[in-house]
Amino acid sequence: MHAFVHTALPVRVLFGEGTRASLGAEIERLGCRRALVLTTPGQRAAAEAQAVSESLGSLAAGIFAGAAMHTPVEVTERALEVLRGRAADCVVALGGGSTIGLGKALALRTGVAQIAVPTTYAGSEMTPVLGQTENGVKTTQRTLDVLPETVIYDVDLTLALPVRVSVVSGMNAIAHAVEALYARDGNPLTSLMAEESIRALAGALPRIASDPGDKAARSDALYGAWLAGACLGTVGMALHHKLCHVLGGSFDLPHAETHTVILPHAVAYNAAAAPDAMARVARAVGVEDAARGLHDLSGRLGAVRSLRDLGMPGAAIDRAADLAVKDPYWNPAPIRRDAVRALIARAWAGDPPRAVVSPGDEPAPPP
Ligand code: NAD
Repeated sequence: MHAFVHTALPVRVLFGEGTRASLGAEIERLGCRRALVLTTPGQRAAAEAQAVSESLGSLAAGIFAGAAMHTPVEVTERALEVLRGRAADCVVALGGGSTIGLGKALALRTGVAQIAVPTTYAGSEMTPVLGQTENGVKTTQRTLDVLPETVIYDVDLTLALPVRVSVVSGMNAIAHAVEALYARDGNPLTSLMAEESIRALAGALPRIASDPGDKAARSDALYGAWLAGACLGTVGMALHHKLCHVLGGSFDLPHAETHTVILPHAVAYNAAAAPDAMARVARAVGVEDAARGLHDLSGRLGAVRSLRDLGMPGAAIDRAADLAVKDPYWNPAPIRRDAVRALIARAWAGDPPRAVVSPGDEPAPPP
């Protein structure tokens, strides 16, 4: 056994069916009295149902249903006014990564307690990371100040997630787990969580695609998403996440879909440099080859597999490669512009993944 460091994050997690009934008790447990419920415009009805529910009742201070992708600062400022106007002392973020990001942004500015109730598989609820957008520029910070105090996973709230969104959100979660398996600061616990996460999600997503109301499959996927989020919150990410941040931030490509397209290609890029991680990914997906297996999985699930189909112009490939190799994250295989460009070009065209770094190359030195 290698030496390692593991930092456990202080989050209380409730998991199950109907767990939202504990919301009121969890708010009181935090010593809070007035909760502002956050969500997106599309999930307002679900938030309203929660706000008037028996569990929340007199603890509900109101609803702010304006959360948006990439946590725009102007949205946070509007929510801040509502939070202050209603004298709320905590937030309940009911939704996906966009809503949870808003809760984090409010906690950063005011110190309010957060209860996250995730309804996608993105994993933000388990991380001390916040990305915010101002004047079109996204900046990311890592601080325990944004980590939710409590996370309530309620399988029932994921049943309405459309299949198309479920699939890409699940692949987004798998990407967190895959990169945790070859993270420089990975450890035996995160690797156990990561492999189990991939196994749960790869098994659940095809069942959800054929029957979105399959509660057992939904439960497995949410369990996998929790584990993936815990990995993302604990260890550093590599080339895959760097590419997705560049593509999302600079070319306005959709978050989870971009992760879905890039993942098999990033795995192929790192395959030779991280053989143990690849063996674990392949075992978890139930295939011989990790990259090919992930590519086939997203094909079977009907997910988009090319950046072109996400709206990226071919002329942008070179600029994307330039940005991706600038300030790179640590990565097991060396970051070479020609190889990264080839990866992006294959992902743009929707070609099957192929290793583009020779196996003899040395891993990149730590920064
Ligand atoms: P999202 O939160 O934007 O949700 C996508 C859409 O699905 C929204 O319109 C939402 O209203 C809808 N939706 C969500 N759950 C639903 C449900 N159960 N039923 C019906 N509709 C539902 O998307 P996301 O992929 O969850 O989050 C993406 C955002 O989260 C990005 O901004 C990304 O950067 C951020 N993120 C941050 C972290 C982190 O650690 N900081 C981690 C992952 C993602």
